[in-house]
Amino acid sequence: MPRTFGSAASVVSAGSTQAPRYRRGVPENPRFLVVLDADSTLIRNEVIELIADEAGRGAEVAAATEAAMRGEVDFATSLRSRVEALRGVPVASFARVLSRIQPTPGVHELIAAVHARGGRVGVVSGGFHEILDTVAPALGVDVWRANRLAVRDGLLTGVVEGDIVDAEAKASAVREWATEGNVPLTRTIAIGDGANDLRMMAVAGLGLAFNAKPAVRAQADLVVEPVDLREVIPLLP
Ligand SMILES: [Mg+2]
Repeated sequence: MPRTFGSAASVVSAGSTQAPRYRRGVPENPRFLVVLDADSTLIRNEVIELIADEAGRGAEVAAATEAAMRGEVDFATSLRSRVEALRGVPVASFARVLSRIQPTPGVHELIAAVHARGGRVGVVSGGFHEILDTVAPALGVDVWRANRLAVRDGLLTGVVEGDIVDAEAKASAVREWATEGNVPLTRTIAIGDGANDLRMMAVAGLGLAFNAKPAVRAQADLVVEPVDLREVIPLLP
């Protein structure tokens, strides 16, 4: 497995916000479903901060992201204002963003273990398809959904296209993917670190706080302490 995604940079911008993407060869009739958040869960980074670095506004966006993940501000409002800070960033710089992304320790082992047990892996993100469309399939994720960044003349316009993937949209993705796979919600696991993951963690049969903010740890079914996704393997059905 590559350590980074720079060499795999391919920017996909077609399709609607709500259309899920599926990896080729997704197993039919999964036994169970594991849905992960992306930023600070599937990967170590917050992608919006990496993109903001390209505009010289990384620190400012990082502070705003931290507040949103703690649940101190409305996620959609915060995301819109943070994406405004990305205006003018060239899409061509996404290759550099991808090269900085670090998969979370244990992610390969967890995804392999889910597949070995006949499960399916989903990722739903308040981040962006423009990055996740490269990262998710490279990690073996079966289905994923995120926000989309509007682009004009090769530059980000500072606007999110379509409906925002917020806490409620994350919960909807868990329900929808479970229904599609004929998996009862009792056989779903949702894993996240931020306040916008709490709704999907409540909907899932098991909600795991991973690398998580205090508000998330307080409401999770279980808190995974080490930042290593292998810790989740013994919890798989
Ligand atoms: Mg997160």
